[in-house]
Amino acid sequence: MPKAFDEFVQAQLQELKEQGLYRKLRILGGEQGPRTNIDGREVINLSSNNYLGLTTHPKLREAAKAAIDRYGVGAGAVRTIIGTMDIHEELERKLAAFKHTEATLVLQSGFTANAAALGPILSDGDLVISDELNHASIIDGIRLTKAARKVYKHNDTDDLERVLESTRGQYRNTLIVTDGVFSMDGDIAPLPRIAELAQAFEAITMVDDAHASGVLGPHGSGTVHHFGLEKIWNISIGTLSKAIGAVGGYVASSQALRELMEHRARPFLFSTAHPPSVTATCIAAIDLLQTDEGQALIDRMWENARFFKQKLQELGFNTGISQTPITPVIVGEAAKAMQFSDQLFTNGVFAQGIAFPTVARDKGRVRTIVTAAHRRSDLEEALNIFEHVGREMRLI
Ligand SMILES: *Cc1c(COP(=O)(O)O)cnc(C)c1O
Repeated sequence: MPKAFDEFVQAQLQELKEQGLYRKLRILGGEQGPRTNIDGREVINLSSNNYLGLTTHPKLREAAKAAIDRYGVGAGAVRTIIGTMDIHEELERKLAAFKHTEATLVLQSGFTANAAALGPILSDGDLVISDELNHASIIDGIRLTKAARKVYKHNDTDDLERVLESTRGQYRNTLIVTDGVFSMDGDIAPLPRIAELAQAFEAITMVDDAHASGVLGPHGSGTVHHFGLEKIWNISIGTLSKAIGAVGGYVASSQALRELMEHRARPFLFSTAHPPSVTATCIAAIDLLQTDEGQALIDRMWENARFFKQKLQELGFNTGISQTPITPVIVGEAAKAMQFSDQLFTNGVFAQGIAFPTVARDKGRVRTIVTAAHRRSDLEEALNIFEHVGREMRLI
């Protein structure tokens, strides 16, 4: 390695350490579950996106194994050459029914799904207007296009309207894009007002429902259906990596847009299709969500979320503006948030500490996500630990 390069890497690491941003990866010693082994310690896990507990569901395990026996372990090519198997198309049909759209296109991840949707529709002469707290994969997806970009204040539709007014008539296509549920605060985007503004200004609407698919709306269909906007909303992104329990992402849209993405979406054209086991797992998950068992999992997750949020508030913690199973416990400066997370861990709860620059300087927090798989007793024990550590650190 050239010496100057080595020094550059070391200096970058040193800078992270000085800013308190350097961290080691936590290691799971077993399944992703509500109680699990993290770094050799048995703890209550409040940090996974495994909303419905599907990562270990018996039907999904069976589906993955059967697909390996029938199709092998890999797709063997990109979708556009010879990597499209019948089960890839079956999953896409099922996802379209799940999302109430004409079509869907599945990508390797939610991350690449954003680039797949944005690339083909935005170019020179177009404008994208993005919520300031949108996910990194939306931001990167936008950066890969030549469109002009503007940012509106988080969930502030008056500010969005101001941007739409000030840019009216200057661009060919205008796209408004937002997360459906924001991952740091657990708040929901105001899609009904966004849809109204989009109609008034003839803009295209896109929502990234990574934290809403399997969580909000009937059978977990997402924010668009939650708000009853399926007739007018244009594009939604979903992930298969969070509530669905496996990995992958998709774009739900019109059939015509799907066909355009088949020809132009670079992650679709230049990266290999999912292995059949992943696809079969996702089919089993989407089938499960349509059943009473699936709806019961969603209901249990919401019951758990409401219980946990209310009890945290009763203890005197600041849970911010959350409306979903993502509940932040806001404590202030970065060091305090990290110390809180460490103390919780020592006492038997894993809740990730999150601080500046991911959130505002004075809004350092631990973030909790409860799932359908948590038992009431897990949550009660976690609350006792929150209370104990919170008092010790004089947070409550
Ligand atoms: C997690 C997340 C993604 C990435 O999804 P993956 O399937 O993990 O790649 C994209 N967008 C948002 C809003 C997310 O929260």
